Amino acid sequence: MLVSPHTDLGSLWRIALGDIELSVSKAHFATWFKQASLARREEDLVVVAVSNIFTREWLENKYHQVILASLQRVDPTIQRIRYEVSAHGAVLQRRALPLGETILYKRASTTPPTPNSAEPPRESESQWDKASNLNVRYTFETFVVGAHNELAHACAQAVARRPGEAYNPLFLYGGVGLGKTHLLQAVGNAVLGKSSLRIRYVTSEKFMHELITAIQTKTQYNFRDRYRAVDILIVDDVQFLAGKEKTQDELFHTFNELYGAGKQLVFSSDRPPKAIATLEERLRSRFEGGMIADIGAPDLETRIAILNAKCTIRKAHVPESVLTYIAAQVANNIRELEGCLNRVLAYFELQGTVPDLERTKELLSNLFSQPKRTRVHTDLVLEAVRSHYHLDLSDLVGKSRRKQVVLPRQVAMYLLRSENQFSFPAIGAIFGGRDHTTAMHACGKVGEHLERNEVLRQDVVAIRQKLYISAE
Ligand code: ADP
Ligand code: MG
Repeated sequence: MLVSPHTDLGSLWRIALGDIELSVSKAHFATWFKQASLARREEDLVVVAVSNIFTREWLENKYHQVILASLQRVDPTIQRIRYEVSAHGAVLQRRALPLGETILYKRASTTPPTPNSAEPPRESESQWDKASNLNVRYTFETFVVGAHNELAHACAQAVARRPGEAYNPLFLYGGVGLGKTHLLQAVGNAVLGKSSLRIRYVTSEKFMHELITAIQTKTQYNFRDRYRAVDILIVDDVQFLAGKEKTQDELFHTFNELYGAGKQLVFSSDRPPKAIATLEERLRSRFEGGMIADIGAPDLETRIAILNAKCTIRKAHVPESVLTYIAAQVANNIRELEGCLNRVLAYFELQGTVPDLERTKELLSNLFSQPKRTRVHTDLVLEAVRSHYHLDLSDLVGKSRRKQVVLPRQVAMYLLRSENQFSFPAIGAIFGGRDHTTAMHACGKVGEHLERNEVLRQDVVAIRQKLYISAE
């Protein structure tokens, strides 16, 4: 019913992936699905090629149902999946992009695209400006202004027109997926190329990792020079710096240096400076020293306008009734709104028909009826711990007994227990089928050490904080 039998494997997998991406966490998606591809199809069986045994096991044990359901949504005649390890498995290499971002692919093979294949616009390297680290597709031109972001937009434009003079620093805050990154990058892009000003966009997480590397490789001077030689410094998601004292310290000094020299600073956060716990007072007062503007949730009309704008960019014609329906489904996150639109577009492009309301409803109903709360929660915990300790997810949930991995793993178990009230056997299962006594031991040990180990306590506080920020 959904696709012609001639649909090529690449398109089939691409649409299924778009679907899968919406039901698993970003981190898991990047870890488990990025390298996978469809190798072949034999009647009702499809063969998924992966690059190693670990991925095969993970997909087979944890994601089989999700993958099967997503493939069946595209082609209901698929009944079975076999997972195979293949060195040359990946036919399509997928860039890891945030949930709902335009789904973009780079073909690794030389297979020419099929004439009617519905490839979304591709993101080429040329969309990134290397020196500034800006993604040039986030511009003011493509940014829709509504009551929810009017002030933030006006401030951003003023800063782009008169960097270092209008509002300094500019601090934008608002919930996840509401356009902070877009607006921040639009400031940079508006200046980029029109003047000789040096711009640097960085997420606070990247800033921290660069700092850590600089410390490890004793290249702190280079790091400082790099950040203190810019005219506009844009730091995204500073809430992440909560509890990271050393990084806050570095940012504070960078701030002073740049500010003192009349350079422009722009920050974003998911909450106002006051609400960022464990933010050093002196940095907080710097953030509060300029202009603070919030971004709220867009109203229905603005959401429709945003969808319209996205359709124009993609040169897609979608009836107003369909857009209104999509806009009514997602109220608080423009990234998700865009994700729904992408999904609808991908489906109808493949069909070669204009989207209609009935089928859109059908298509999106699967999406909204998925019970994914618990899974998302588990993923969040794993991701928060993994990123806090800079580990690979596969190490965290894997078998390694290295000291650097064992403690974070125990912390993750402890958090699953304390935050999610998971049973010990359930925790064991998440960590590669370990015995429940292992989970019990880990939780007991972390609980006990928390009382007297200050470093561990700080770690757990920072991870918890991150959990609640991302869970909002
Ligand atoms: P945040 O950084 O606040 O989490 P993003 O800036 O990444 O959110 O926005 C998420 C997605 O929504 C991006 O693809 C962005 O282009 C889009 N978006 C957000 N706000 C707008 C808007 N006002 N107009 C057009 N697109 C928007
Ligand atoms: Mg962002």
